[in-house]
Amino acid sequence: MLKKIDHLGIAVHSIAEARHFYETVLGLTCEREEEIASQKVRTAFFVLGETHIELLEPTSKGSPIAKFLATRGEGLHHVAYESTDIVEQLKQAQEQGCKLIHEEPFTGAGNKQVAFLHPKSSHGLLTEFCSGEQK
Ligand code: ZN
Repeated sequence: MLKKIDHLGIAVHSIAEARHFYETVLGLTCEREEEIASQKVRTAFFVLGETHIELLEPTSKGSPIAKFLATRGEGLHHVAYESTDIVEQLKQAQEQGCKLIHEEPFTGAGNKQVAFLHPKSSHGLLTEFCSGEQK
């Protein structure tokens, strides 16, 4: 079962340049920055109530975020929903005919278990499920 929107993922060319907008214009606080080597991405999480804004910056040309920026430019990259049971959530989505990018959850930012649904199955917006403790 889904509980809430955990975060919105926004692709940017440079976190160093984009953080001015989120910190100074919007007045949000950056909770942490983290590099996810397996995804070739650096992330910065800004707190907003119960949810977060996740900025995503590619760390190499082969990064999925680099590919996204090249074709679609900066902007909304994914919506992440917190699930009470990510394995069950993925199973249900698959049973409903949804294409999955990850059949098994993996450890993503904040030590959470995460998995993505294919955007072709979610009307063009990359959808992430996540669950687990934030450390
Ligand atoms: Zn995310």
